[in-house]
Amino acid sequence: MATMTAIPKQKTKKVALKGMMDNVMEQFNSASDQIELHPNIRKILSITNNEIVVNFPVKMDNGEVEIFTGYRVQHNNALGPYKGGLRYHPTVDIDAARALAMWMTWKTSLAGLPYGGGKGGIKLDPSKYSQGELERITRRFTFALADNIGPEHDIPAPDVNTSSQTMAWIADTYMSTRPPAERTANQHVVTGKPDGSGGLEGRDRATGYGVYLNIKFWADKNNESLKGKKFIVQGFGNVGYWASYFLEKDGAKLVAVQDASGSIHNSDGLSVKDIFNYTQINDGKVKGFPEAFELDDEEFFSTDCDICIPAALGNQITKENASQIKARLIAEGANGPTNVEGEHALLERGVTIIPDILCNSGGVIASYFEWLQNRNGEIWQLDEVMAKLDKKMKESFDKVFAFAKAESLDLRTAAFCIAIKRIEKAYIQRGIFP
Ligand code: GLU
Repeated sequence: MATMTAIPKQKTKKVALKGMMDNVMEQFNSASDQIELHPNIRKILSITNNEIVVNFPVKMDNGEVEIFTGYRVQHNNALGPYKGGLRYHPTVDIDAARALAMWMTWKTSLAGLPYGGGKGGIKLDPSKYSQGELERITRRFTFALADNIGPEHDIPAPDVNTSSQTMAWIADTYMSTRPPAERTANQHVVTGKPDGSGGLEGRDRATGYGVYLNIKFWADKNNESLKGKKFIVQGFGNVGYWASYFLEKDGAKLVAVQDASGSIHNSDGLSVKDIFNYTQINDGKVKGFPEAFELDDEEFFSTDCDICIPAALGNQITKENASQIKARLIAEGANGPTNVEGEHALLERGVTIIPDILCNSGGVIASYFEWLQNRNGEIWQLDEVMAKLDKKMKESFDKVFAFAKAESLDLRTAAFCIAIKRIEKAYIQRGIFP
């Protein structure tokens, strides 16, 4: 037998950029220290319950077969079924799915919902596939997940690059593969469906509306009006668009937008409706919008404004660009857009951050309404949905603000403390099986 010579350990350069998981764990640990979380419960919440990774084949339009990798991470279900979106993006991997699933656990707990946290998606760039291919990919992914999802077990929803159409395909595939008598009773396996197919009126705007409400509550707390306040938005998808729509309606002025195609600005103000209409004829992209100036991507965050809304991907505000930010308020529409170092730099300068688990929770709160609507065989009206959303968002905001004030904490730590305490209580009451 050949002897193996030991390979000398290679010196690897320390990679500076941390993953999303490092961020969420640092956030979790500092809140856990704050509330002196029981060490056993800290152990439980530091890991995910289940991680499902599926590789599945799909026939492409050209007849070739491509293999895709999909993920569903179920972090915790102490408070109820796993809940959270599915995203289609090249950055989807196990680290991202874990971190995003954990954020969902804190988000649903903070909102007082009877849910736990899960997240998943497929690693792909959806712009490279036809509508037919995306449908087959989605249906085959649903089939591969099989009983790992379910209306009382794990309930996916839209996220980055997935839509009500994606949810309709998932619901249809899931229901079609149930025994006949169970088919129609399973439509709440996903939320964010189109209205007309079990979807909730207003679910489309709920996340963006919630972002707007949080900004409004912040302004009210400071005895300020939103009229004339300048804001910038990163990401002009569902969240960025609707947040901008409601802010503009309240008199605030959109001065810069960034998406994957580029950055645009106009200090005299940009019309939300005009940008939206332009994106509809320009492949969803803001680049080239005629009533704006082009901006270098690196300059986007340094745009003069009062409010900055990161509503795209994670890890966008870092210690490298935090010092350029002129805004007094960061309203996190995306999940994990500010990393820990970026946050420290901003807090030191007195910038307020409304954390993701509070700021973008309108989406999952509306998902809960949709789930109830389906479970109870009801159809809710738009004004009813919006009023209920308003009430829930206000309760969460007031809770976080009051806790932060009482304990002299930043809003994120306060939000995490409240969320973790609710889960801790459930574990203490129930104990650990066996
Ligand atoms: N993807 C959204 C989020 O990150 C919504 C999740 C849901 O409705 O379940 O909060």
